[in-house]
Amino acid sequence: MLTVTEALEKLLASVTPQEITTEPLQNTLGLTLSKDIHSSTDSPPFDKSLMDGYAVRLADLATGVAMLKVIEVITAGRVPTRPIGPGEAAQIMTGTPLPEGADLVIKIEETERAGEDVSIKTKPPSAGANMIRRGTSIRSGDCVLRAGLTLNASRIGALAEMGQTFVPVRQRPRVAILATGDELVPLQQTPGPGQIRNSNEPMLAAQIESMGGIPVPLGIARDDRDELRAKIQQGLESDMLVLSGGVSAGTLDLVPSVLAESSVGEIFHKVEMKPGKPLWFGVKRHDLRSPCYVFGLPGNPVSSLVCCELFVRTAIRRFMGVEPAIAPPQLGRLEHEYSTRADRPTYHPARLTWTRDGLGITLVPWHGSSDLCGTVAANGMAYFPGEARQYCLGDSVEAFVW
Ligand code: AMP
Ligand code: MG
Repeated sequence: MLTVTEALEKLLASVTPQEITTEPLQNTLGLTLSKDIHSSTDSPPFDKSLMDGYAVRLADLATGVAMLKVIEVITAGRVPTRPIGPGEAAQIMTGTPLPEGADLVIKIEETERAGEDVSIKTKPPSAGANMIRRGTSIRSGDCVLRAGLTLNASRIGALAEMGQTFVPVRQRPRVAILATGDELVPLQQTPGPGQIRNSNEPMLAAQIESMGGIPVPLGIARDDRDELRAKIQQGLESDMLVLSGGVSAGTLDLVPSVLAESSVGEIFHKVEMKPGKPLWFGVKRHDLRSPCYVFGLPGNPVSSLVCCELFVRTAIRRFMGVEPAIAPPQLGRLEHEYSTRADRPTYHPARLTWTRDGLGITLVPWHGSSDLCGTVAANGMAYFPGEARQYCLGDSVEAFVW
């Protein structure tokens, strides 16, 4: 059986990133930048003041005390009209360009204005005080944003600063969701004897949306070959198809064989993990369009949840060009003792909190892969390799935030 790492490697080798398109900047939140962006200007573009005060010459201020003549006032959006010479100063506002000849700024609080003159009383200053030189943060030609970054507020702001009104990105995948099982009823229906609600569909749709995909719910397919085949056919029209249920060893677990009949090539089936062992992954190659990546998630809700977090997330990230495609775990400290048995590697729902010692991990009481309600107190999961071990308070453990 493949380990999680081996299965993720196979998945990454199978999924091709989406083609690059161009989007208006205002539509790019959550998309992935697909080319490096270089600055065409220096930033800041001119020597500028960091304070409201007076632009002066160090030569006039060796002792920190001086009386200077104010030759102009430079307010936001204006540029100095002349250089300052010996014995002169210009009143200047935060963010405005320094006049030629000035090599530092004195804060307004350390000055007193008397008509045309300003009296300055400060400690002996040094050149460059309270100002920033042209090109200090970025030089023209520097790479400011690397391909593979997910666009967030500060990155969108930086693109705007550089005048990037259209941005090279990769689009979100459309991800069809198909729940399978004779026991399932739609949410609005009251379950009869032996029946349960199709809770996996809205759960998976929410996960997929939060991972950047566009969920396309297809409802329920009965455990019936013809019905399953028809609905799978419909799902294969999307960029990805996520099925839940029907991939284990039951007599009506028809998903792998119907996928094979639908010419979806199997990449792997079964992964050494808990929950989620029966996970199935394959690719449907189309003649005239890009492939469809197909996941058969085990139907138990927490198995579906965990497999979606680890595998569907990685496929969506690769498809959208996010670097790195595999979301790295975070290291945290266990907030209590815990003992594990020699078993499969386990992903245990956990409450992750920020403590003064970093990320704190508290496992939530949980009764296994069918216990979805047990996970609602969790905001992530902790990873335990499949070995018997007694963990102590404060031991370091890998965790994933949901
Ligand atoms: P399966 O993987 O098809 O053997 O399903 C295992 C169990 O997961 C079923 O017996 C159900 O209790 C549960 N299950 C399957 N599909 C869903 C679903 N769409 N929503 C909620 N629970 C499900
Ligand atoms: Mg089933």
